[in-house]
Amino acid sequence: MDQERFITSELNAREEALDATLRPQCFEHFPGQDRVKERLLILVQAATERQEALGHLLLCGPPGLGKTTLAHIIAAARGAAIKATSGPVIEKPGDLAGLLTGLEDGDVLFIDEIHRLPVAIEEYLYSAMEDFVIDIMLEQGAGARSVRLNIPKFTLIGATTRQGKLSSPLRSRFSMSCRLDYYTVADLELILKRSAAILRVQADSAGLHEVARRSRGTPRIANNLVRWVRDFAQVRGAGCITGEMADLALKLLDIDADGLDEMDNRILEAMLIKFEGRPVGLKSLAVAVGEDEETIEDVYEPYLIMEGYLMRTAQGRLATEKAARRFGLPAVSKGALRPAQPDLFSGPV
Ligand code: ADP
Repeated sequence: MDQERFITSELNAREEALDATLRPQCFEHFPGQDRVKERLLILVQAATERQEALGHLLLCGPPGLGKTTLAHIIAAARGAAIKATSGPVIEKPGDLAGLLTGLEDGDVLFIDEIHRLPVAIEEYLYSAMEDFVIDIMLEQGAGARSVRLNIPKFTLIGATTRQGKLSSPLRSRFSMSCRLDYYTVADLELILKRSAAILRVQADSAGLHEVARRSRGTPRIANNLVRWVRDFAQVRGAGCITGEMADLALKLLDIDADGLDEMDNRILEAMLIKFEGRPVGLKSLAVAVGEDEETIEDVYEPYLIMEGYLMRTAQGRLATEKAARRFGLPAVSKGALRPAQPDLFSGPV
């Protein structure tokens, strides 16, 4: 391994280790998502009392809201082992069979990005989820035969940023689906308070509030920002995360007072100025801002919609009055009345 790659993998390993230390291990240390937690606690208690495996669960929502963390918490609450993988990694039926046969009764198999599971694999998963058997084809062509393997009574926890991309046969095999929402500032403050204590950094309530407020309702972002503000406060201040330190540090990252980052602003600016406030298709928007469609759809758009800067209409994405005001453009509603910008790249909006 060359030096640069070695350093990068070392850094990634350290980041992952740090992430793991910030990851709550039990429901009590997991603020927010109260209704989801209440449902999960009931399921866990009921399954524990009956000494049964938990039903299969689907966790949906934008990245960084705690789907992986919850899967680990659920497994720990059941005293079960967890194996984690992700949809695109399982390429062949044999990969899935290997994972499933390595489990024990009650274990959890966590599949992140389950919407990216190849269709052929998805079909193998149906019988595994329903009847705890898997039919594997041995050999190809004339000598092909299938063998049926019994697999342990496992619990599948799937996570997805795109519930709509899941086929309905797969979706219907989950006994419950839970949608995680963006966090309130108060819940993010609680998360940050715990993270600051683990990181052994001093922070006052104004500092934590400022970071929480500008974290797009997302714990992963909040944890990343608090590390940055810690570094900033250490170098430019007295080491304590105060409101002023947080503000200066976040400004330097181009995260503005409303918590929007550079890409959010680029998206809104393209919609309002380049496309003159007309409805715009996702593909055109992605090309205009130089970001891929999936990231816009999964990461940026849901937050901009929630904050009231963007709307999805039948004609395409539309910037709102609130967005126009940010850029000192009062007349966006006229834009909305203009004919839709033809999507230069045909396809669904
Ligand atoms: P997802 O799987 O939804 O992308 P993760 O479970 O990986 O998100 O969470 C991202 C990071 O955010 C984790 O490192 C975890 O520390 C933190 N996190 C997420 N939700 C919470 C929460 N409710 N409380 C504390 N930390 C959280």
